[in-house]
Amino acid sequence: MSHRSPAHSCDIAIVGGGAAGLTAACAMAREGLEVICFDKSFGFDGEKKGDTRTIALLQNSVYLLQNIGVWKKCEQYAQPLDVMRVVDDTGRFPPVAEARFEARELGSDPFGYNIPNDRLVSALAQHAEEMPNITLLPTQGVASIDNLASRATVRTVEGQSFTVSLVVGADGAGSMARREAGITTTDWKYNQTAIACWFSHSLPHKNISTEFHRTSGPLVVVPMQGDQCGLVRVETPENAERLMSLDEKSFAGELQTAIHGSLGTISKVSKRSAFPLSGLVANSFAKGRTVLIGHAAHVLPPIGAQGLNLGLRDAAMIADIVAKADMRAQDPGSMQVINEYNRLRRTDILSRTFTVDFLNRSLLHGWFPPLQVTRALGVQLLKWIPPLRKTVMREGIAPGSHLPPLMHAR
Ligand SMILES: Cc1cc2nc3c(=O)[nH]c(=O)nc-3n(C[C@H](O)[C@H](O)[C@H](O)COP(=O)(O)OP(=O)(O)OC[C@H]3O[C@@H](n4cnc5c(N)ncnc54)[C@H](O)[C@@H]3O)c2cc1C
Repeated sequence: MSHRSPAHSCDIAIVGGGAAGLTAACAMAREGLEVICFDKSFGFDGEKKGDTRTIALLQNSVYLLQNIGVWKKCEQYAQPLDVMRVVDDTGRFPPVAEARFEARELGSDPFGYNIPNDRLVSALAQHAEEMPNITLLPTQGVASIDNLASRATVRTVEGQSFTVSLVVGADGAGSMARREAGITTTDWKYNQTAIACWFSHSLPHKNISTEFHRTSGPLVVVPMQGDQCGLVRVETPENAERLMSLDEKSFAGELQTAIHGSLGTISKVSKRSAFPLSGLVANSFAKGRTVLIGHAAHVLPPIGAQGLNLGLRDAAMIADIVAKADMRAQDPGSMQVINEYNRLRRTDILSRTFTVDFLNRSLLHGWFPPLQVTRALGVQLLKWIPPLRKTVMREGIAPGSHLPPLMHAR
């Protein structure tokens, strides 16, 4: 990867070049803004990081990637998701019927596409590198940020210093941009660990994604290209440790049993990664001259493919607000921009965080019978009332209001 020599003054500094930060960089540069993005991973091929996650991108996220010109660089690795099944595997009473959601009920598009995370990040980095108004700066890290009244100053560990109008904190759960802006968080831990990998299977997946709800947490299989699926298996930390230590054949055998043989014989399991689960939500999404996007703003358990999709909505929203400010010849880091971003992202982020947390806890806390009754009743209502089912499907894949224009089909 080659890098231009950086200008020490530009419009936007993006701290963190993961999927959220790079998407924001491409979206803002497309609007003509000068962007500098900092990350220690620049200069390395994403695939070398050994990321074993696949990401289920919902349809509006795919429109965003199409609109910023990135999708054509990664669509060859993506698999459409036509059907989503939710299967109650808790064994609790009353039993909850299977919920099946079919994208064709909403129109001709699939719900979204599943893609290996490293392929997505590589495509974004390649696209950003090709844009003349983006500089990707490899660094050991951003060390400090001064949010001043007129500009912000960003300093790297190596001692380079940049003045910008707006800082986008996209530096993950432990965000230093968030800390430097003086934004506090509400955070919590789950006694759960997610194992992520992918595997081959003998029966076709037919573009069906299945979420098994179990007392230790969800187990999700999501179609990939060919006869392969991505896996997210949430377990107690002890059981996750045991599963991580199994050889490939034993792990495949246990997985085959856990998903009730629904994909036939399982073979060829990729490298596995373990992610201890936690939750976090920033108490404000913008302050001073800094806005937070992606994991820097919110961390959710991997249920219902909400995490990065929410992060991409953050990226599209700040790009839209800043582009409009720029058209009015306004400062992209003005108080108006900061307040508008904070206001427009609040409902979406807080409602998703609450819903995903509630769903996860409702699986764990089987001792509270009304929760199981509510889940059973809720699924029956979805089966019986198609308009309700369609509303839930629409809301599950995107918020009903305030979806930025970049996330609509063109
Ligand atoms: C098992 C699993 C499965 C998931 N599946 C899905 C799914 O199907 N769909 C979905 O939408 N989401 C999913 N998610 C969530 C998704 O992975 C995250 O939302 C997403 O990766 C967060 O991206 P990000 O860019 O915000 O943060 P990160 O990927 O954490 O990127 C942050 C970047 O900031 C850089 N950085 C950190 N500190 C500094 C610094 N001081 N200076 C400069 N750079 C810095 C880091 O090097 C890193 O590159 C899943 C998560 C897990 C754990």
